[in-house]
Amino acid sequence: MKHKTSFSRRRLIQAAFASGALAAVPAAVRGELRVARPDGKPRRILFFVSDGMSQSVPALADALSRQVRDKGTHWRALMENREATMGQMETEALNSMVTDSSAASSAWGGGQRVNNGAVNMLPDGTAIRPISDWLAEREARLGLVTTATVTHATPAGFASSVASRGMEQQIAEQYFDKVGLILGGGMRFFDARRRDDGCDMCDDFGKAGYQVFRNRDELLAGGGERRLGLFSDSHVPYTLEQMHNEELIKTVPTLAEMTASALEWSLLSDAPTLIQVEGARVDHAAHGNDIAALLWDQIAYDDALGLALEFAREHPDTLVVTTSDHGNANPGLNGVGGGYSGSTRAFSRVARAKMTFPEWISGARGRAEDLNSASLREEVREVFGVGISETEADGILDSLRGNDVVEWNNQHRNTHGLLGQVIGNHNGIGWSGTSHTNDPTLISAIGPGADRFSGWVRNDAVRGIFEDLLS
Ligand SMILES: [Zn+2]
Repeated sequence: MKHKTSFSRRRLIQAAFASGALAAVPAAVRGELRVARPDGKPRRILFFVSDGMSQSVPALADALSRQVRDKGTHWRALMENREATMGQMETEALNSMVTDSSAASSAWGGGQRVNNGAVNMLPDGTAIRPISDWLAEREARLGLVTTATVTHATPAGFASSVASRGMEQQIAEQYFDKVGLILGGGMRFFDARRRDDGCDMCDDFGKAGYQVFRNRDELLAGGGERRLGLFSDSHVPYTLEQMHNEELIKTVPTLAEMTASALEWSLLSDAPTLIQVEGARVDHAAHGNDIAALLWDQIAYDDALGLALEFAREHPDTLVVTTSDHGNANPGLNGVGGGYSGSTRAFSRVARAKMTFPEWISGARGRAEDLNSASLREEVREVFGVGISETEADGILDSLRGNDVVEWNNQHRNTHGLLGQVIGNHNGIGWSGTSHTNDPTLISAIGPGADRFSGWVRNDAVRGIFEDLLS
């Protein structure tokens, strides 16, 4: 394990700590360089998924990052690197041109398309063995890192087979002994008091040698060969929410901090290793037409990706892949004003948001009877940084009070859809709806085997590529 020193836990954590300055990680290579295996294959694959990342999202996140952090994204730097491959990921499910996350991850991790809602299970009930089983047979390792519940659809597709993605208690059981590192949210699916069978899964995992982390400090203290980190009852909070909450900053690790733990874990063994890192809440924010929440979570994902790219420079036996499972609501910056002269200024307002839509809507709904159009306009100005019209305020107020609002796009006939349209009138962002789209997604890779992820890539071809590269 002498190579461990070249990318030590301390350095990773320091890097993750350098609040918002993850791009400034020193590039100096210390210790022994490890090269790709003689056959040109990687020893480890870091498979990054920004869930529901429409094609426009990484470029918009880059623009926001330049505006508020005075630096671009690691994704953009990767695009400028001639060694990186680029392609398009085909995203269909078995029963629909539009996939959900469980069918998409099943295609990746199981190698076959299934119906939406299923995890590695065919319509006739035949279970498909996930890549976790293939890896376990070869004493290879699997790690799952996410900002959703760890048992959510995207991680689940790599390590479970169930009829319905909602069976998260059973998914937790299927991870046992097969997944060496599990980091994210979802304590409620492991907690004895909330599981239907009353089993204390944390205790079971602990007895099997897993170190169990329940908060950020425990994670940052380091870990061993088996790690289970559950940092939230359900999903890990949105980055935008965490940014404005001291308690969440102290107690919940960022995706980059979880990724740092996974990278350090990957060096504990020479066995072939596959790690999936998911920025899950990009998808949730896209469903909610909440551009600020979406882009801040994309930036958090990019910070984690930056750590992986830095790690791969020091460990050239590493393949890094970044992609998405499907588009979602396809946000885009529109031309605003004469000669589109207002677009740049409009987009600059995204940075002013202090709350996510769900946070604000849930509070405002409770106060809806006390609000009037003037006070609502004042709140929206304070919370989202835009001055909406009286008519717009009246529409939102109606929706908060549960009244039907005229909206010709049926997908937007709800408070978050309406709010997304209204705020979009002032920040230039338009949305195609509030659901997943059929668009292919961006895929890029760098490192040994990267060429396998160039050009047109079917989602159900990914499993075979993993097997080829890790065998
Ligand atoms: Zn979704």
